[in-house]
Amino acid sequence: MEPSSGATVTTVKGYACQRRTPLQHHNTLLTDALLVLAENAEFCENEGRSVAFRRAGSVLKALPQAVRKMEDLQGLPCLGGHSQRVIKEILEDGKSREVEMMLQSKQYQAMKALTSIFGVGVKTAERWFREGLQRHTDVVNSGYKLNHTQQAGVQYYDDLNTPVTKAEADAIGQIVEEAVQAVLPGAEITLTGGFRRDKLTGHDVDFLITHPEEGKEEGLMPKVVSWLEARGLLLYQKTNTNSYLESTDGPARPSHNMDRFERCFSIFRLERPHARPEQHPQATCEEQPQDDDSARERRASQSPGWKAVRVDLVVTPVSQFAFALLGWTGSQLFERDLRRWAGQEKHMSLSSHALYDSKQNRYLRASSEEEIFAHLGLEFIPPAERNA
Ligand code: ATP
Ligand code: MN
Ligand code: MN
Repeated sequence: MEPSSGATVTTVKGYACQRRTPLQHHNTLLTDALLVLAENAEFCENEGRSVAFRRAGSVLKALPQAVRKMEDLQGLPCLGGHSQRVIKEILEDGKSREVEMMLQSKQYQAMKALTSIFGVGVKTAERWFREGLQRHTDVVNSGYKLNHTQQAGVQYYDDLNTPVTKAEADAIGQIVEEAVQAVLPGAEITLTGGFRRDKLTGHDVDFLITHPEEGKEEGLMPKVVSWLEARGLLLYQKTNTNSYLESTDGPARPSHNMDRFERCFSIFRLERPHARPEQHPQATCEEQPQDDDSARERRASQSPGWKAVRVDLVVTPVSQFAFALLGWTGSQLFERDLRRWAGQEKHMSLSSHALYDSKQNRYLRASSEEEIFAHLGLEFIPPAERNA
């Protein structure tokens, strides 16, 4: 491409962990389109393609201004031919035909709806779609046997697909704090995930729990869960125990980036503030329709007075806290590139537990995120600028 006069040439680094990516940026029309392509690739189980589209979008999020013409893309990393074609179309016509068609397609819509059920991954959604299901209500009516997680997923579908607000996250934080203090005084909780990156809403609320005295945190999760369950605050929970110590497959590189902390994937029953008391129809009994099953179900699914909220709890020994904090703050692409940077550029292996230096054959300690960035030879990026 000829560098034309007026092109805004911006340099952007190749790894997301080298860039500052604020929440608000200037290219949402383009990044929304690329996200659809990324999702669709994911639905086709093509992870490489999906990551490529996410990387392209992420680069555009880091730009200090809106892209107006193709020349503005000169020298930018991670923009493959396909992404560039889509961007060109949008710059010229205001929309991409490929993306528009995808959004209209039955398969994309069904996969989007079915994978938005908690507990349903791409494989299951794909099978259900081939068998003719398209929405979560189809799943309910199909009579298919659902696992425990999927049952909760369809039961609380509407709530779980309503964004969690910061106020709700803070209310959950108070409950978790109370639970943790009750079972282990001195333990500390930290809000992580999207809310730590200053997002205003999220699909869940993520917390790390630790204790300043190493070892005190052991076995904490089952106690926290019991405390919450005894008070009727949990609608669903699945707790995993810590498997880090027993692992044999190399501690710093657990498979699938899954870490091995004591953790709990849960659904909280959060009281709504100023909820109106449940209405009793007796007073106007005669005008009321029959109180049949479907009417009862409708009321139950509206869950008056409370909201189902997804919450992730993770317990970490204090010696691993900084790694866990960095690993659970996200964004997912930021995390992916941190690990890629560590491996490809530094011959190190980073996980949510530790950082291993293959050249020195030793673990590098850190008690803050700043130290980990320094070990990795990276400029520190604060959480609010990790929205890659
Ligand atoms: P949202 O606002 O939609 O919840 P989020 O960035 O908080 O966005 P999460 O899916 O809650 O997204 O994940 C938060 C962070 O935790 C991400 O960085 C992700 O890499 C990490 N994470 C999520 N699940 C796991 C897991 N099973 N093992 C290790 N890390 C995980
Ligand atoms: Mn989250
Ligand atoms: Mn989460």
